[in-house]
Amino acid sequence: MPMDELTEPLIRGDRRALSRAITLIESTRPDHRARALALLAELPDRQALRIGLSGTPGVGKSTFIEAFGKMLTAQGLKVAVLAVDPSSARSGGSILGDKTRMETLSRDPNAFIRPSPSRAELGGVGRRTRETVRLCEAAGHDVVLIETVGVGQSETLVAEMSDIFVLLIAPAGGDELQGVKRGIMESADLILVNKADEDLRPAALRTMADYAGALRLLRRRPEDPEGFPKAMAVSARTGEGLADAWAEMQHLAEWRRAHGHFAARRAEQARQWFEAELRAGLLAALDAPETRARLRAAGDAVARGEAAPGAQAARMLDWLRKQAAGACGAGGTGPGPDPAGGAASGAAGPGTGKAS
Ligand code: GDP
Repeated sequence: MPMDELTEPLIRGDRRALSRAITLIESTRPDHRARALALLAELPDRQALRIGLSGTPGVGKSTFIEAFGKMLTAQGLKVAVLAVDPSSARSGGSILGDKTRMETLSRDPNAFIRPSPSRAELGGVGRRTRETVRLCEAAGHDVVLIETVGVGQSETLVAEMSDIFVLLIAPAGGDELQGVKRGIMESADLILVNKADEDLRPAALRTMADYAGALRLLRRRPEDPEGFPKAMAVSARTGEGLADAWAEMQHLAEWRRAHGHFAARRAEQARQWFEAELRAGLLAALDAPETRARLRAAGDAVARGEAAPGAQAARMLDWLRKQAAGACGAGGTGPGPDPAGGAASGAAGPGTGKAS
């Protein structure tokens, strides 16, 4: 089977090919989907460090990414910035990963910035972002930053697709911890209190001490070296503390690699990803017009007393199973790998390793 025409330039690091491949992956057209899956299957297994970054609007995420990204590209590293935007589902617009928010970085030849896919429900954005991460890795990026806003589910989604999860926090006025959910605090590897400069510096240092205290109360995770999760103070504006934060991220990643936790985490993420794809496929099958019509007709028959509810449900489930098997291979007429075979036997095949 000939390679996809995007594969070779993408692996070479051609930005246009990468952009086009991402567009392909974001498409919901069945033939595009089939081509995207085939493309993903032929990518080499390159690994970037995947850093998730979350924080409320105004905390300084774009300022941070701009400064942090520039620091990394100055070291010769290739950096990709992706976004998971919880608002895109509703507004169709994007407030994250916006190039105008990171103007200098977006002009840097070693940086690639891509806003959140729009017009997709959050789960769909998450699924496509995972695949986009894979594309960026294949294109030779060393670091993939995945940005999100600290509201609701998107934060968890990003934490679950990162190797390292960083929470950006603003200096607090009082001594309260600013409503950071416990769950998110537990998944953070680094809490960076931003704006530790000028007037805000004392407040930032106090806030950092508060979080350091709170983190000490959490149980130490077996996949962490001594001292993690950690709270630090930084200034995205002056750049102070950014090199230290990067050093801590590298230390954490290296420790996890050396102890097998890095690979284990990715393996578990690949499993979750697979299950998410499966659930989405099943839901899509349920939502298909043909299914809905059949459900209605089957329900009508039960209402008229022509069929017993239990037996009718069993028949419907049986039919749905067959539909779902077909939906997993949506667009399976294309040149991609046999989707039915892929679903059954491919789980242990090359696709699994590459999915991580
Ligand atoms: P985002 O919404 O999280 O992306 O936040 P922005 O990066 O747009 O920053 C919001 C505001 O905070 C802007 O006015 C920035 O200039 C300011 N800001 C960001 N980082 C810092 C910092 O380190 N120190 C200070 N003093 N202000 C900052």
